[in-house]
Amino acid sequence: MNTFDIIPMENWGLGNKNIPLGIAGPCSAETEEQVMNTARNLIHRNIHVFRAGIWKPRTRPGSFEGVGEEGLKWLQRVKKELGLKIGTEVANAEHARLALKYDVDVLWIGARTTASPFTMQELAEALRDTDKVVLVKNPMNPDLDLWMGAIERLNACGIKKLGAIHRGFSSYAKTKYRNVPQWQIPIELRRRHPELPIICDPSHISGCRELIMPVSQMALNLRFDGLMIESHCCPAEAWSDASQQLTPDVVKKMTEELYLRKADVGGEAAVKLSALRQQIDEIDNQLIAILGARMNVAEQIGTLKRDNNMAILQSSRWEDVLAKTVADGERQKLTEPFIRTVFEAIHAESIERQNTVMNEK
Ligand code: PEP
Ligand code: MN
Repeated sequence: MNTFDIIPMENWGLGNKNIPLGIAGPCSAETEEQVMNTARNLIHRNIHVFRAGIWKPRTRPGSFEGVGEEGLKWLQRVKKELGLKIGTEVANAEHARLALKYDVDVLWIGARTTASPFTMQELAEALRDTDKVVLVKNPMNPDLDLWMGAIERLNACGIKKLGAIHRGFSSYAKTKYRNVPQWQIPIELRRRHPELPIICDPSHISGCRELIMPVSQMALNLRFDGLMIESHCCPAEAWSDASQQLTPDVVKKMTEELYLRKADVGGEAAVKLSALRQQIDEIDNQLIAILGARMNVAEQIGTLKRDNNMAILQSSRWEDVLAKTVADGERQKLTEPFIRTVFEAIHAESIERQNTVMNEK
């Protein structure tokens, strides 16, 4: 694996090399007043770059898709009047051209764009040899090669102030996160490319205000190089991502309360333990979501049996299920007593659910 040709972060002309890079600002620039008001309140020694989305990639059509070029003028005001560096998302060559024209300091590639090699190549060429900072969010799907490929394309076009942003990965199962962090993926990126700065975006991982602090602390525990946090002067009224934005005051206070880990205080074991515990928490979260889904199917079976006047228990079916799970368990190094205990509990609950449905008529 080749090393990236990267200019170290302390020479990017942003922030302070002794503290994590702080990027904060609204999900979307909405009005000049909202941008100025938010930026003014974000001024703090821990916040170095003001972010705002100008072109918004939305999952479904019909929602707010960003103010476009007009918003870049507002960002310029933030830079000139408040002295903050400015950053926005670019998703195609035209966005890149405009961001350079308006002297945006930090350009980031969104999760949906990272996943598209053609668009990444087009962006890399549009940004060729730029001395602006370019940050690449992970793709929506947990594919480290796709993430690295996007970074490689930019680096091959002479872009050296380059970093990654970890914003979590989408999952079909409902979890407490909007995007599951899967910390092992950025950890593996760091292992392969220790020269590449990694910034965490706790806002898109969390999807709700309560998780932003613990996710940020986790990122700092893993010695990420910075945080990108969504902040809005009036979060509840935000035109996009309202549930995950924090007021500037909360963001400033949070950056003061976060604990910075030192690399050299024998914390290696503690950091690994913390990453493993986080993985366990995520898996437990998924287990619960899967159990919920399983019980839902049990209820549908209950309805079907009721409507056809069938008994709940067909014991041969249960024996087949048990034999199959024990065999599957063995392949995963799970012992038979363990599998029996777990599946007997699941089966008991499933029968309870079917019975409840049966008694409804
Ligand atoms: C954003 O930062 O507002 C954004 C759209 O993020 P992502 O690309 O991570 O979804
Ligand atoms: Mn957002």
